Amino acid sequence: KVADVPNLPDAFREQLHDDGIEELYPPQAEAVEAGVTRGENVVASVPTASGKTLVAQMAMLSRVAEGGTALYIVPLRALASEKAEEFRAFEAFGVDVGVSTGNYEGTSEWLAEKDVVVATSEKVDSLVRNNASWLGNVSCVVADEVHLVDDRERGPTLEVTLAKLRQLTSDLQVVALSATVGNAEVVAEWLDAELVDSDWRPIELKKGVHYGSALHFEDDDQVEVRPRSGEKPEAALVRDALEDGGSSLVFVNSRRNAEAAARRLGDTVKPFLTDDEQARCEELAAEIRDVSDTETSDDLADAVANGAAFHHAGLASEHRSLVEDAFRDRTLKAVSATPTLAAGVNTPARRVVVRDWQRYTGSGMEPLPVLEVHQMMGRAGRPGLDPYGEAVLLAKSHEDLDVLFEDYVEADPEELRSKLVAEPALRMHVLSTVASGFARSRTALVEFLRETLYAVQEEDPARLESLLDDVIRYLEQNDFVTRDGDELAATGLGHTVSRLYLDPMSAAAIVDGLKAADGKPSALGLYQLVSRTPDMYQLYLKSGDREQYTEEFYEREQEFLGAAPSEFEDARFEDWLSALKTARLMEDWASELDEDTITTRYGVGPGDVRGKTETAEWLLGAAESLATELDLGGDVVVGVREARKRVQDGVREELLDLVGVREVGRKRARRLFDAGIETRADLREAPKATVLAALGGKEKTAETILENAGRQDASMSDVSVDDAPDEVAA
Ligand code: ADP
Repeated sequence: KVADVPNLPDAFREQLHDDGIEELYPPQAEAVEAGVTRGENVVASVPTASGKTLVAQMAMLSRVAEGGTALYIVPLRALASEKAEEFRAFEAFGVDVGVSTGNYEGTSEWLAEKDVVVATSEKVDSLVRNNASWLGNVSCVVADEVHLVDDRERGPTLEVTLAKLRQLTSDLQVVALSATVGNAEVVAEWLDAELVDSDWRPIELKKGVHYGSALHFEDDDQVEVRPRSGEKPEAALVRDALEDGGSSLVFVNSRRNAEAAARRLGDTVKPFLTDDEQARCEELAAEIRDVSDTETSDDLADAVANGAAFHHAGLASEHRSLVEDAFRDRTLKAVSATPTLAAGVNTPARRVVVRDWQRYTGSGMEPLPVLEVHQMMGRAGRPGLDPYGEAVLLAKSHEDLDVLFEDYVEADPEELRSKLVAEPALRMHVLSTVASGFARSRTALVEFLRETLYAVQEEDPARLESLLDDVIRYLEQNDFVTRDGDELAATGLGHTVSRLYLDPMSAAAIVDGLKAADGKPSALGLYQLVSRTPDMYQLYLKSGDREQYTEEFYEREQEFLGAAPSEFEDARFEDWLSALKTARLMEDWASELDEDTITTRYGVGPGDVRGKTETAEWLLGAAESLATELDLGGDVVVGVREARKRVQDGVREELLDLVGVREVGRKRARRLFDAGIETRADLREAPKATVLAALGGKEKTAETILENAGRQDASMSDVSVDDAPDEVAA
């Protein structure tokens, strides 16, 4: 019983009581027995939606009650705000909650005032690098989705961060929350923790496979779900759930597939909507169109008007939360999603359909890991609302039917394996560990690395040291560290690279490219340079692209920075062309092409355009610091700065001054410029009627902009668009 849990603040017990939580779920009770409210380390490996969050809350609040600070580490930014929102309820009894995801630099001393801090692992890693002193007050750290230590990209940072936090703070309580994995005991061994390993769920989950006209459940139960003529099996399953009043979540393997599926699911859902629901869906569709005016936005709104939606990482974040909320409150009855939705975001459904259990990799179709499919399946069933949850995989052949039962329904999830020594992780973390002074010698590095999961799992201790020596050599060769016997120190350049959070390999590529610049580099040259680094996700070359970009390659060869590969070095040339394609997207954006044309031209979503341009902005900011650090000369620095600002605001050079005025974006700046108002100074002098006309006659906007430009009298009360020159007014 909640009442019997030791060390919880009474106010929290009351809050739980008000939320109708009197009794702990069994895995929660096990965690309490293991001492989670008495400062003990606990690893909880339990299924999705089985109440892991409450385990964390009990640990954090019991430590905060003693005057400590709790740190909650999440893998994704989107989850940081969601969790912080959840914890805000504690403010009612005086527990201050802060969230820190942004900017990698700085120590964020303001967080010292907070009792509970939610942050991504990258953010925590950077706080450790910057020696944020408040980390010393942290007495409890929670690692959410700790099974992601197995993730090539995000895993190593989480692993290193936890190891560092444990070294920094004596007596730190670690609580690690994990989906069910094959070897949770290794994680517990690594963290010196008690293990709660359970497959208990708050609501029954029926798993099965659909084939032909039947849904086969694991207990040999069968129900008929027969697709009508021309109906896809996933649509039949969604319709079947709707006939029983339940909503469905359909997992597919690509954004395109998610969008196409949502369009079709709309046709399935629409006949089930009541008039009232229909009206709500239409309101929501209008809200979606208001967020942005792109093809994706249109497609989403069209599906939503029919009661269905898609959800993927290419969506704008406002769109994403609108879809999540509307699915939770049942306005939307079916959502087709890529696996990003399965991780974290709480969106339960009566029925989960795993339509695509394979995905494209570089070399063809590959089956998804069991762990991932189980997480998707775990989204089925809403406690208190549904009688049970159903998770269904789709079989296309009779053979699939058996395979899917064996490989997913009945299979255990995979074992976790540390990815720390996968490149580029070790490079980055070794450099930052030296630069932050956390380790000042090879010996200290070895000692530190022994505290990682990798060391727990690696049977040959010599291997860790030989990998480490390779990395140290690479860092030395590129002038990032110096070595004197056992002693290691970061150079000025090494410090800059670590502070900028760059992969040393990206930094080395940027440094070489900038050094090769002859005078002021062009924006395209710089965009291509940063697109060549491992920190940028390049666009794929589709069929036909190779020819087009090879042609552009020769046309613009003199703009590239550094020695270009020859056409006969296949892999390197291909990589260079992908970087060129990515750079052309940035150049289009920085030449004021509209978003819709860009998304069509490159076959990407608006979220991708933003993702790429933001990464470019960050890498060019880093390039500017590197150029300054290395004294590469004014031309280079100016070129980099201009290219960065242009990609940041999506404008040509001539608009840079105008977009510096608050509330003036790329479109307004262009209209003002075309009306002859070319600079901030012009805004202060220009006839008001011209300004007003260029801004589409919007008085309030015009006044705000004039004020922001520093104009004394910004009032538009007596100004008329008709007084503007004809060509502007038109
Ligand atoms: P997980 O983090 O394991 O995916 P959550 O912590 O989000 O799962 O919990 C899922 C739901 O269960 C939440 O809505 C939460 O309020 C509810 N819940 C958690 N613990 C209990 C409990 N002991 N009794 C009733 N409901 C609970």
